[in-house]
Amino acid sequence: MEKLRVKTGSRNEMVDITDKVSLMVKKMGIMDGILHLFVPHTTCGLAVNENADPSVKADISGKLCGLVPEAGGYNHFEGNSDSHIKAALTGSCLSLFVEEGVLLLGRWQGIFLCEFDGPREREVWLKSVRQGDKPF
Ligand code: ZN
Repeated sequence: MEKLRVKTGSRNEMVDITDKVSLMVKKMGIMDGILHLFVPHTTCGLAVNENADPSVKADISGKLCGLVPEAGGYNHFEGNSDSHIKAALTGSCLSLFVEEGVLLLGRWQGIFLCEFDGPREREVWLKSVRQGDKPF
């Protein structure tokens, strides 16, 4: 397993990690297979979405904050239930295809770490299942 470290700069933020993940595909020497990404955190998530127009990530983050406000009469003692809820909505894992050493994404797609309780330093865990690997 490999790990990426991602520093976030604000409480709610979508950080484009596409280039970091692509570099990791090269470092891991993956030619053909599936790359799994996982965040071991309860207040951030992962998403694939448009990275061509930066206003899209701002719209997603802004709308999630509108849907799940920070003050919402929650029960959780830590005071960050909105962060947990937004993390649950985005999810903590992705599975992506790699072919001929290249991470396959749609033309307008990028990979985002979705921060909901920053700023913090986060980890993304990466593990591949390569074409030709024996099934367990
Ligand atoms: Zn909490």
